[in-house]
Amino acid sequence: MQKEKVIIIGGGPSGLGAAIYNARAFLNPLVIAGAPPGGQLTLTSEVENYPGITSILGPELVQQMRDHATHFGTRFVDDNVKEVDFSDPKNLKLKLSSGDEYSAESILIATGASAKWLGIESETRLRGRGVSACATCDGFFFKDKVVAVIGGGDTAMEEAATLTRFAKKVFILHRKEEFKASQIMQKRVMDSDKIEVLWGTEVAEVLGENKVEGVKLSFATNASKTKVDGDVLAVDGLFLAIGHNPNTQFLTGSNVELNEKGYITTSAWYAWEKAQGKTTKQLDFDMSWQYATTARGVFAAGDCVDYIFRQGITATGMGAAASLEVERYLAALSE
Ligand code: NDP
Repeated sequence: MQKEKVIIIGGGPSGLGAAIYNARAFLNPLVIAGAPPGGQLTLTSEVENYPGITSILGPELVQQMRDHATHFGTRFVDDNVKEVDFSDPKNLKLKLSSGDEYSAESILIATGASAKWLGIESETRLRGRGVSACATCDGFFFKDKVVAVIGGGDTAMEEAATLTRFAKKVFILHRKEEFKASQIMQKRVMDSDKIEVLWGTEVAEVLGENKVEGVKLSFATNASKTKVDGDVLAVDGLFLAIGHNPNTQFLTGSNVELNEKGYITTSAWYAWEKAQGKTTKQLDFDMSWQYATTARGVFAAGDCVDYIFRQGITATGMGAAASLEVERYLAALSE
């Protein structure tokens, strides 16, 4: 088995950003890009917030990044990593779904996270046509419109607050009668005169042929706070904020520390969480590196780490920064 200098796991913006940097530093990176490759951006339509590109379709942007990485010599394998063995930092091992095995001196994990969806047919059909999982990305398209956000966590609060900058009215549809979001985020929402919460409410169907025209609601049997006439709410957009699943299942049982939701804890992220009182864990990081995981030689970036910003540009930037740490780490190894 040939030992690679660096293997990047993940073929979305973060992994591709990293690949471009590592390739231009002559590290000959190998990207295990996933099957299907490309990440969350491939599920969006118009992207208008990637600097230097006024408007582009998500899948096209990812393809351009991949072509860019290929141009500088990045090699790709479109498969998923199934198992890892990072117990020996000098010989970091991966096994793919195909059964092929690889080893490397350093690994950069950039496998992203997948937004959770309700899983109903009408939602899938209207995704990118009024159904979205990112207000920062798509809020702009709903100027002076009426929109709804589903969820009761911090993301739903943030999405709703973001949407008030564009929409004339924002409903939050939450299945319970209280939010799980932090008090400060709830207050921001409750103080807004553009936001109305419909408690004890679930979406049974998204209405509209080619674009969202409304939602058909169902109500929890014990719903007491919400009074809506009928079960149809007219909206132009529907934003899902019911959580994300980081794509880190293949790391379960490894020496890469994950938080309770499965996000990878990196050194810099841990320092921030500690300062914020968000973690009481005592982890032993080598603080020489900002994007290090708890497994020596293994770094991580993008939405598999970041449960807050989740933007194409932030993932790409983190990937680039982490790739520079990989470069520094490899240089230190050879000293
Ligand atoms: P959460 O898991 O915290 O919340 C998801 C919400 O969606 C819950 O209210 C849940 O309902 C609801 N939900 C889940 N499934 C469904 C469904 N099928 N139908 C309807 N509703 C559903 O996810 P978040 O993305 O909000 O937050 C994830 C983590 O990221 C949290 O730890 C959060 O604190 C953190 N975060 C921090 C931010 C910050 O610090 N600025 C910003 C954003 C997130 P129920 O309440 O019934 O379980």
